[in-house]
Amino acid sequence: MSSREILDQLASATVDVPLERLLPGSALTSYPPVDQWHDHAEYDPEEWRHGRKVERRYSLIPTTCFNCEACCGLLAYVDKATGEIRKFEGNPAHPASRGRNCAKGPATITQVYDPERILYPLKRSGPRGSGQWERTTWGEALADIGGRVGRAFREDRHDEVMYHVGRPGDDSYIERVLHAWGIDGHNSHTNICSSGARFGYAAWMGFDRPSADFANARVIFLISSHLEAGHYFNPHAQRIVEGKMRGATLITVDPRLSNTASMSDHWFAPWPGTEPFLLLTIARLLLEAGTWDQEFVRRWVNWETFLRETRPDLEPIFTNFEPALLELYADYTPERAEQVCGVEARRIQEVATVIGGALGRFASHSWRAAAAGNEGGWQTARCLMLLNVLTGSVGTEGGTSANGWNKFIPVPPKAVHPQSRWNELTWPLEYPLAHHEMSFLLPYFLKEGRGRLDTYFTRVYNPVWTNPDGFSWIEVLTDEDKIGCHVALTPTWSETAWFADYVLPMGVGAERHDLASYETHSGRWIGFRQPVFRVFAEQQGQTVKRTHEANPGEVWEEDEFWIDLAFHIDPDGDLGIRTHFESLERPGEPISMDEYYEQLFSHSVPGLPETAAEEGLSPLAYMRKYGAYALPGDQYGVHEREVGPDELAGAVTGDDGVYRKPGTAGLHDSLSEIEGHMPFIGDGSLGVDVDGVVRFGFPTPSRKLELYSPTLAEWGWPEYALPTWTPSHVHWEDLDLAGGERILVPTFRLPTLIHTRSGNAKWLNEISHGHPLWVHPSDADELGLDTNGLVRISTRTGYFVMRAWRTEGIRPGVVAASHHMGRWRLQEEQGNERWSSGLAALGRDDDRWTLGSEHGVAPFTSPDADSGRIWWTDAGVHQNLTFAPQPDPISGMHCWLQRVRIEPAREGDRYGDIAVDTSASMDAYREWIAKTRPGPGPGNLRRPLWFARPVKPQASAYEYRPTS
Ligand code: SF4
Repeated sequence: MSSREILDQLASATVDVPLERLLPGSALTSYPPVDQWHDHAEYDPEEWRHGRKVERRYSLIPTTCFNCEACCGLLAYVDKATGEIRKFEGNPAHPASRGRNCAKGPATITQVYDPERILYPLKRSGPRGSGQWERTTWGEALADIGGRVGRAFREDRHDEVMYHVGRPGDDSYIERVLHAWGIDGHNSHTNICSSGARFGYAAWMGFDRPSADFANARVIFLISSHLEAGHYFNPHAQRIVEGKMRGATLITVDPRLSNTASMSDHWFAPWPGTEPFLLLTIARLLLEAGTWDQEFVRRWVNWETFLRETRPDLEPIFTNFEPALLELYADYTPERAEQVCGVEARRIQEVATVIGGALGRFASHSWRAAAAGNEGGWQTARCLMLLNVLTGSVGTEGGTSANGWNKFIPVPPKAVHPQSRWNELTWPLEYPLAHHEMSFLLPYFLKEGRGRLDTYFTRVYNPVWTNPDGFSWIEVLTDEDKIGCHVALTPTWSETAWFADYVLPMGVGAERHDLASYETHSGRWIGFRQPVFRVFAEQQGQTVKRTHEANPGEVWEEDEFWIDLAFHIDPDGDLGIRTHFESLERPGEPISMDEYYEQLFSHSVPGLPETAAEEGLSPLAYMRKYGAYALPGDQYGVHEREVGPDELAGAVTGDDGVYRKPGTAGLHDSLSEIEGHMPFIGDGSLGVDVDGVVRFGFPTPSRKLELYSPTLAEWGWPEYALPTWTPSHVHWEDLDLAGGERILVPTFRLPTLIHTRSGNAKWLNEISHGHPLWVHPSDADELGLDTNGLVRISTRTGYFVMRAWRTEGIRPGVVAASHHMGRWRLQEEQGNERWSSGLAALGRDDDRWTLGSEHGVAPFTSPDADSGRIWWTDAGVHQNLTFAPQPDPISGMHCWLQRVRIEPAREGDRYGDIAVDTSASMDAYREWIAKTRPGPGPGNLRRPLWFARPVKPQASAYEYRPTS
């Protein structure tokens, strides 16, 4: 279907959809009615200020926000007279955000019209990192990059091509691209973000994220500042507030008095890394009090395996379960927790009573925070999930479900066969259980000679700034023997783009196509990001062949870029790549966005074609009109669903009661039995017999919740097969507190900044532009620090200098600084945006690096008069540069918390000073990697087949075949 046909449909559609239908039960009335979205009138606010009523007419075009993962709905107000976007507001038709946004959503407009943004493709014209750039064309960039990628494939150097993503913003498109290329070249940012929590959850239930039903909970338990800054910030925050308004008790665990903690009924600030101890203490109190859901545990937990493996002295019957668990956790008493965690026993007992009174309605969430901070931090998620399990709050209304139940990813109808390769630069043998790629170890792997990269794509990813030890990243990015060509696909400048060969400008949330879905509540939805300028141009009757023709400058989008690149990689089609990007309607030509999404929405989204037809629309026209679609029904109790006889036809079962597809693998079957089968989640199992009925269950080997993880035991970690606690790498009892050592929490967010992408959002930088080190007054007194006084913070590899802030909002013994500040550029008028970055000077003496501040944020001249009105100065301090890599040996998570020594600044220290020795980082890498217990595991596999993996390869790739 062409754009013209879609527009004709929209013009002739006569069905008026009341907002009430889009948002059942909503009392929101302040949105223009949907039937006026194509022509909505408002008075010009600027004119209004001068007392004049001047009407402006707008086309309201839905898209989705790209400023965090949540993908909230936005409505772009496009002035029909000028074609400019006047503002962004919420999209009331979006099932997750329901018309609401955080500050970062409407701030998209400042990114669109940022005078500092990259508008045209750039190519370096001097040495990499020298800051010498020249404008190039998309055609030239595609030809050069496509040519070298094609050469690498023809020369069987597939592992030398890597795509490394920060914020994906889309659920599946790139998987199709990489499958078509036949490479195992996906790399992510997950190991510096969420691997810890993911691993903890996956070990329980196969799914690696929780989906908490906050709005219907009686107790909401957060390990993080989830309400104001956590994952799915706005969609979750509004549901947490709803739950609280309905009487839920809010409990927050965070060493810092976040905004969320300040709004909580209970704030716990245990010693960092002791959170699992606190949780196991609560679990034990539930067991002692008998306030746990025995029937749920009996039916859905692998308690027999637990008893068999850990208590062979006991008969494996359920009556033995509770005493065995109490014995296992005998040491986790409130009194002992008070000593270990530093939280009063009385308060722990109090919340255990509250939780015990909320059976079935305990909604919990842990993301980043403790799970991302500590060695063994993944146990935080594992122990938190234990509370959900004991309270029977899994899959219930008001409980916590699996992310996969509340997320919907349409599978493109024209499937591409997964790759048969396994890339050890991302999935090394040392980390068979990691969730996911060992992304932040790439520089050390390259330095060790484990491989090289011919072409390295970074996409919305800034490892020099975001990852630990950015100087090691600069070392490999500037070494052309290690990285032949670096292509930065980015909507903004970044510290990493500076070290690229090509900087290719990609769109912000209003300038691109993406499709995404997230677990924001009990229900499934898809959100459609669309390029607003292009859609508007087509509404005006213009023909747009490529999105960069309509966007500001020549800003493009990745979807079309990958399509056109395929034609340059494989111009004759002999590599078998190009065919996957050709139009079905116009063979031999690139598929269009309309055709791709029309196919997807027509064939892969249940209910959408019928819903669209009710309005006389095609599925694509419906999605262009509303920008989102909610699949019918809620998603409670998915594990309880009965598996029908048709689905079980021919299935085989064993003693474990698990039913499997014929020809697919059990946990220990050989790969030869499953060749050709492409496992996604799970290992081909279909369901499990529970009390005589085959039910869907969970995608674990037992199809049950795995209190005892046979996978952990069999892959070399039997001591962690059960939820447990081990002291963190920054355990407080190991610190030299008297000598000035403290625990640094460098991970907390500012709710109005976007990791590495808010540098071009002037509104957000005006709101958030301070970067103090939070220090408790008792520590400040002991260490001799005053508010605004300069502090030197020394890590294992170097030091940084920032200012102190005395506050009682932090646990004594712990200091904290947000990871959202510290942006720098190396040239006055080029590089990172001047709304947010300071000018810095980089110095190097072999492995010793320095970064010094020349000046902070300052006014500048640009077409935007606001740039001359900048009144803030603090660009912050790039603390991550001084952190050594600390990969958790099991989950692969970078353990962010730092053991630091704190002292008042020394003579000559200046704000923002940084010094690092990267040879010390290499030493740290070697020490941490020595803690691993490498694969292969059972069956000579590189990784358990049932574990999730991005861009999952064919099963045969899992078999370990040593390279000579
Ligand atoms: S929570 Fe805020 S930043 Fe994230 S998608 Fe929603 S509006 Fe955008």
